[in-house]
Amino acid sequence: MYQIIDGKRISQEIKDELKEKVAAMKAEGVERCLAVIQVGSDPASSVYVNNKKKACEYIGIKSLSYELPEETTEAELLELIGSLNAREDVNGILVQLPVPEHIDEDKVLLAIAPQKDVDGFHPVNVGNLSIGRPGYVSCTPAGVIQLLKRSGIEIAGRECVVLGRSNIVGKPMAMLLLRENGTVTVCHSRTKDLKEITRRADILVVAVGKPKLVDADYVKEGAVVIDVGIHRNENNKLCGDVDFDSVAPHVSAITPVPGGVGPMTIAMLMNNCVEGCR
Ligand code: NAP
Repeated sequence: MYQIIDGKRISQEIKDELKEKVAAMKAEGVERCLAVIQVGSDPASSVYVNNKKKACEYIGIKSLSYELPEETTEAELLELIGSLNAREDVNGILVQLPVPEHIDEDKVLLAIAPQKDVDGFHPVNVGNLSIGRPGYVSCTPAGVIQLLKRSGIEIAGRECVVLGRSNIVGKPMAMLLLRENGTVTVCHSRTKDLKEITRRADILVVAVGKPKLVDADYVKEGAVVIDVGIHRNENNKLCGDVDFDSVAPHVSAITPVPGGVGPMTIAMLMNNCVEGCR
């Protein structure tokens, strides 16, 4: 029988812990404040931004919301980020991605002061992660580590395979598993004999962005499988990068979609806002 790793429960547990911490900080006169910037009105982005605001409210973090029109220029956005960088009362700044095409995403991410970069996307924070210095860590892979730890799954010394090498999931995921003393292999679209490698994994983290790509042929008996993917199928139902029904009978633990990695991303964003870049 396999264990279902319950991201909903674990993310709630983290948010409740943070709520207590924030209350204790407030009692000492310290307030946390997150500035969330959205350019344009992409419906999916609006849902994400709203969820972030709700999580802030629940935990007791002050949130400042900047909903800018689609035609906002790059210079205007950079100026707003500059002014938030300079504000002492703002300790986190987040620009909801994607930004409209006329704005250079790289310039935006570089403009956010690394010490306020709660998404962990700034090259300074990425570099700090890779050399083991304190800094903000990208929220989704940080959430995966929490799922494993809080489910009692040992990482040290185990064979970990990350499927996907994106800057926001795959690469930081690999660095975090390495930091936890896993033996890490990263696979991508050019990897040869993919199934042979994924079948070696004690812990397999899948972030390929391809619905149900990973079936039972990709996994070793008794492995732990973490599914980062999120997709909507033709019936508007959510599914992941892993074919849950095919894989689950062979594993010792697995994350469902929805209710696995998804809820952890916001919980870890909140954690970054509260804890700062320790
Ligand atoms: P991405 O930027 O598209 O990266 C996908 C990675 O998978 C790339 O490295 C790509 O290889 C690799 N890949 C694609 N097809 C492959 C194949 N057939 N075999 C082997 N490798 C393959 O995606 P992402 O941003 O990392 O996101 C991955 C998934 O996670 C998506 O479904 C996304 O929606 C989801 N996601 C969820 C959360 C959350 O909060 N739960 C957060 C972020 C992302 P190359 O580098 O060679 O192209």
